[in-house]
Amino acid sequence: MQNRELFLRHLAQTSDFPLSLEIDFAEGSWLRSTKGERYLDLISGIAVSNVGHRHPNVVEAIKTQLDKYMHLMVYGEYIQAPQILLANKITSLLPNNLDNVYFVNSGSEAVEGAMKLAKRFTNKPNIASFQKAYHGSTQGALSIIGDESFKQNFRPLLPGIIQLDYDNIDSLNLIDKNVAAVFIEGVRGEAGYIMPDVTFVKTVRKKCTEVGALLVFDEIQTGFGRTGKWFSFEHFGIVPDIITLAKGMGGGMPIGAFVSSQKIMSVLKSNPILGHITTFGGNAVCAAASLAVIETIENEKLMDDIAIKEAMFLDLIQHHSIIQKNGKGLMLGLEFESFEILQEIIQQCILGGVITDWFLFNDKTMRICPPLTISTPEIQFACETINNAIKQVYG
Ligand code: PMP
Repeated sequence: MQNRELFLRHLAQTSDFPLSLEIDFAEGSWLRSTKGERYLDLISGIAVSNVGHRHPNVVEAIKTQLDKYMHLMVYGEYIQAPQILLANKITSLLPNNLDNVYFVNSGSEAVEGAMKLAKRFTNKPNIASFQKAYHGSTQGALSIIGDESFKQNFRPLLPGIIQLDYDNIDSLNLIDKNVAAVFIEGVRGEAGYIMPDVTFVKTVRKKCTEVGALLVFDEIQTGFGRTGKWFSFEHFGIVPDIITLAKGMGGGMPIGAFVSSQKIMSVLKSNPILGHITTFGGNAVCAAASLAVIETIENEKLMDDIAIKEAMFLDLIQHHSIIQKNGKGLMLGLEFESFEILQEIIQQCILGGVITDWFLFNDKTMRICPPLTISTPEIQFACETINNAIKQVYG
């Protein structure tokens, strides 16, 4: 039986129209199919391959750790060098209050941990989040996403969830003394890469401080250099109380974290002890890979030319049918007139050797989220292919 048939028979599908490209090799910004076709990766699967696919430093760090140990009992019982070195590195990139790291396996799990931590620390019941926000697919994270159509068939979900409107100051009045945490994305990951207003975010920070709610920045998609800074909160001149991390953190290995102050995090130690645990969180091999990712971003100065790369994409992709260009750094969205038109353009891009897609909560906008390592000729090829694809569709 062909792999395609086995794929459709034995792999749980998430839609009726899987892309079904069979990839057997990936390196840098490129994927190669079993048929030998090469594709430039403009989605990085999604926002994961910040240092490119199989960066040699990441591969080497994984191999080195494999020769020592892979998994030990977790729950903070053993001192594991890969975890300590990584936590030390991450906290060195952050303001002083974000000095304590809890490792998990995925973004959703980081959000779940942050929700529990905020409720436990503040002793308050409610969580606020924003319209069109994405925070994950597990039931707690799903409860706070900002799109009813994704939630309605999974109810009952968590009670006490308050939905706020981006850039609507009045909606912030809903943040009251019963709110444990406000979750926010520095660039809305599934709404089409739209960035909130700086003054608005500063007001959210102020409001949280006033009522004693913790401000949680979801940096799962924005983190590790993607917007041109280590973390997106840095664009707003504020400091959150908790951040959530995953995706680009592992350079292709599954790892996430929530980070806060030692004072806040200490509530997880008791009453009950082991009140928040995870078997694989901070797995030594994943942690070693993650440290290599951060060192690579630093040593290769990958953040230095993100703004130049952003400008190249925005300048080189030109067509009158593009309604709007959104985003920050290498998180860019191109809005077209309809889902149908965009689908045709995406198909043409794939035929031309460029992989892109759309957003969960904005199906008219094309996602551009390449590895940060993407080179100038690769950007030129991507933009040329996208321009040609648009021309094909518009005739
Ligand atoms: N938060 C944001 C902002 C995300 O983009 C995602 C993943 N798209 C998640 C949370 C959930 O992460 P994961 O898929 O690893 O559970």
